[in-house]
Amino acid sequence: MLRALRRWRERRVLRSAALPDALWGEACAALPFLAMYGADEMRRLRDLVVLFLDAKSIVGAQGHEVTALQRTIIAIQACVLVLNLDLALYDGFENVVVYPGEFVPGWEYEDEAGVVHRRDDALAGEAMHLGPVVLSWPDVAASADWDAAQMNLVIHEFAHKIDMVDGDANGCPPMPESLRGEWRRALQDAYEDFVARVDAGEDTAIDPYAAEAPGEFFAVLSEVFFAEPALLLDEYPDVYRAFARFYRQDPVARAS
Ligand SMILES: [Zn+2]
Repeated sequence: MLRALRRWRERRVLRSAALPDALWGEACAALPFLAMYGADEMRRLRDLVVLFLDAKSIVGAQGHEVTALQRTIIAIQACVLVLNLDLALYDGFENVVVYPGEFVPGWEYEDEAGVVHRRDDALAGEAMHLGPVVLSWPDVAASADWDAAQMNLVIHEFAHKIDMVDGDANGCPPMPESLRGEWRRALQDAYEDFVARVDAGEDTAIDPYAAEAPGEFFAVLSEVFFAEPALLLDEYPDVYRAFARFYRQDPVARAS
């Protein structure tokens, strides 16, 4: 019943809240990796973006005014991850907060000795558990073109959001039981290998930040999976295959 109700709501939103062609075209042009998508996928992506924009508030902070184009560029990248999954994975939060530059989160954490620390390093993005996704607009803009930046901030933060659906961002998002074994093996082996390569001082093609923690490994490799899939297939084919089953997408096949 709930699902039927949701579908009915979605159809109503899609009828009433269209995305202007010019805006859609301009936003897609800012994201060169979309060039590999087929016409049918682009149509479904556009519908998802309309639903995402209806469900979420993308708001500016510290005087930043979010334009319709910025909103659309953020929404497209968030929706790429759930194109063949379910937008309901993003149900646990309502807001995307956009800053005019890097921001200091200001949250506190307690260490093992019970001492409370306050983080004061600036961030380009953050996905808060049960809270908003926070983004620095200049970093979103700079990482829209993978070839120029070798990273994608929005995909990274929304991968964390999906990972957090079942708790911590630990690199193991909710998935069918049948995929868990393959996922654990592939991700664990690749993570250990990657950490060793980074520790050895290797100049890796994948962002060494992925070695920080399993959760970061999943988020960084998700960026690569969507924006430069051949690199992931090349470096860690088992991870690529696990991601293809998890996200239900095969971006390398799309690109060729
Ligand atoms: Zn991260």
